[in-house]
Amino acid sequence: MRLKVALPVPLPQAFDYAPPPGTPTPVAADVGRRLRVPFGPRDLVGVVVAVADAADAADAVDSSALRHAHAWLDQTPLLQGELLASLRWLARYTHAPLGEVIATALPTLLRQGEPLPSTASWGWRLTELGQQQRSRLREGSKPRQLADALQADAVDEELLDVLHPGWRSAARSLAKRDLAERIELAADASVPAPQPGPALNEDQRRAVDAVLASDGFSPFLLDGVTGSGKTEVYLQLIADCLQRGKQALVLVPEIGLTPQTLGRFSARLGVPVHALHSGLNDGERARTWAACLRGEARVVVGTRSAIFCPLPEPGLIVVDEEHDGSYKQQDGIRYHARDFALVRAKALDIPVLLGSATPSLETLHNADSGRYLTLRLPQRAGNAQPPSVRVIDARKRLLEGGLLPETLQQIRRTVDAGGQVLVFKNRRGYAPVLLCHDCGWSAHCKRCSTEQQLTPMTVHAGGRRLQCHHCGARQPTPPACPDCGGLALQPQGIGTERLEEVLGEKFSDIPIFRIDRSTTQRRDALAKQLQAIGDQPGILIGTQILAKGHDLPQLTLVVVVGVDEGLFSADFRAGEKLAQLLIQVAGRAGRALKPGQVWLQTHHPDHPLLTTLINGGYHAFARQEKQQRELAGFPPFGHLALMRAEAKHIDTAREFLQAARHALGQSDTTLEIQGPLPAPMPRRAGFHRAQLLLSAPQRRDLHRRLDEALPRIPALLEARKVRWSLDVDPVDL
Ligand code: ADP
Ligand code: ZN
Ligand code: ZN
Repeated sequence: MRLKVALPVPLPQAFDYAPPPGTPTPVAADVGRRLRVPFGPRDLVGVVVAVADAADAADAVDSSALRHAHAWLDQTPLLQGELLASLRWLARYTHAPLGEVIATALPTLLRQGEPLPSTASWGWRLTELGQQQRSRLREGSKPRQLADALQADAVDEELLDVLHPGWRSAARSLAKRDLAERIELAADASVPAPQPGPALNEDQRRAVDAVLASDGFSPFLLDGVTGSGKTEVYLQLIADCLQRGKQALVLVPEIGLTPQTLGRFSARLGVPVHALHSGLNDGERARTWAACLRGEARVVVGTRSAIFCPLPEPGLIVVDEEHDGSYKQQDGIRYHARDFALVRAKALDIPVLLGSATPSLETLHNADSGRYLTLRLPQRAGNAQPPSVRVIDARKRLLEGGLLPETLQQIRRTVDAGGQVLVFKNRRGYAPVLLCHDCGWSAHCKRCSTEQQLTPMTVHAGGRRLQCHHCGARQPTPPACPDCGGLALQPQGIGTERLEEVLGEKFSDIPIFRIDRSTTQRRDALAKQLQAIGDQPGILIGTQILAKGHDLPQLTLVVVVGVDEGLFSADFRAGEKLAQLLIQVAGRAGRALKPGQVWLQTHHPDHPLLTTLINGGYHAFARQEKQQRELAGFPPFGHLALMRAEAKHIDTAREFLQAARHALGQSDTTLEIQGPLPAPMPRRAGFHRAQLLLSAPQRRDLHRRLDEALPRIPALLEARKVRWSLDVDPVDL
């Protein structure tokens, strides 16, 4: 008997090994176990994907020549039935080696061969001394807050992460004085009883009932405006799952997964909610994965890669904000977590619910053609009203820090009335460009620019530093113009940092918070900032990080500046992305009792995208956009794959793509091949980049041609000097 082992190497086949010396003859039940094997001069961790008869005629290998695996790493399979089968599907669909797909799916420690970790959970409780002295701790201090939280019972560390971000230093301080101690908890201890949610309105009830009435695999689109109570629908369905003894998996966008979300889930459901996201360390990720595999994790809320968690007792998969771009992995195995969620739900024979106020055109197409059942929540829940939108013409007007005088006045009126204002500007940094007023020189990134296309460096740190947002290169701002030596270097345009400066001068009496990727890099940073803002009147300046998922009840005015860049992008998805962003940002306003307003300041007030969106809403826009896509043969009506190559010299990249194009065959009515074309960023971090675009009216034709051609491509002479990749269903062309 031989083991067929998938290894994390860029070769499509599984590799044959004899079982580790002295271990029993392999059987079918060994499929899914990891083992350590010799591979060339190295040792690798692989997963058994099949057990084959030694005399198997189809691919007989002289079994005496087989190398032995070194050792088994698991007693029982790590990747079982459905998950392994779904990963096989993903490998076929992305045209990637199964071993690399498996490596992507597994948490780092398990991929490296570490044992499946223990899932015992730890918590904190007050000591007897702590109980006695609790009331003497200073009111409002962090240690006091923690001691109060522990007063009744021990509390799970994961729950503390959610409910009391930054609790660890308080715990250390209590422990030093013998007031609190860390203890191992029995499973399911220390979770507060579930809190009841609001009574569902009629639309929510109908949606919940439709999913409850479904049988086996059933895909749903929950199409509900922002603030319509989609999350309440999820919570009810998850509660039902828990009652039936099933697990629920909820995918959320990267920036939507906040302690606020997790806190709401665990408070309402009365079970620990397991979070899976990139902010966890390797140990935490492996533990949560193990808790899923053992069935201990009943509710998992996670970002993109959470779609790989094992679900031995599956009940429901939810994909919140299904249109969000963060569900698509942009390097390595380029999978789409939403699409893979549908594949898994089908294999698991369970319902899958895609929720959004601004569904992707792909999902709308599936709903329109009857593949998904649409459930609608057309109104805001409770008593909240939809925000009113005003377009403000900025043409030929004098701007202060990018803002019109009437916009500034409206901000003043709003904060004077006790409200909060969000100023949305999708550009981080101080200014997008540094320009010499004397000679016209501007700072651009040497590693990313080409002669045809200059990539500007963004001005940061109040003007002291230049930074490339594409490759991360940084340098101090030059004291004088490198070309003419003049001293007239001036930051051009407005980024969030500069807005903060300008608004800080105008509204010196009001707290101002800037929330973008630069200020929220650290874990919990966003939650802490939102906590600090609380309910006081104030101004938030934010990029798209603030566009979704956060409930700010006092937010009554949203000011949108600088969408104009997005109106004229070449990317065929740019319109869809901009429309989604605008609706999501606008949806932050007036989510509670106070009505909300959106002020959209633009130099293109008559642009069809804006007028359609404002007069007809997102669905009117989507209908128009769908027609355009159909005419152009773009998704969801055509199917795309992108082959990209990068090399030190542009000719090397192009020669490789020419050869690949030849291997793919002729363009015909079933498959069109365009290129080699320059990539949208023709140079990045010192590499030249080019691409081939494949498009086909029928998905199967695209995959058939790729299946035929791809095995030959690694062997091409031209492949040696390039890095190349294939992206099926690319989102950025
Ligand atoms: P969405 O996920 O669609 O943006 P949420 O589920 O977050 O909406 O709900 C928005 C707000 O409305 C929340 O504050 C929520 O508590 C409240 N809400 C939801 N459903 C109801 C309901 N049936 N009655 C009253 N308030 C509700
Ligand atoms: Zn100059
Ligand atoms: Zn750069």
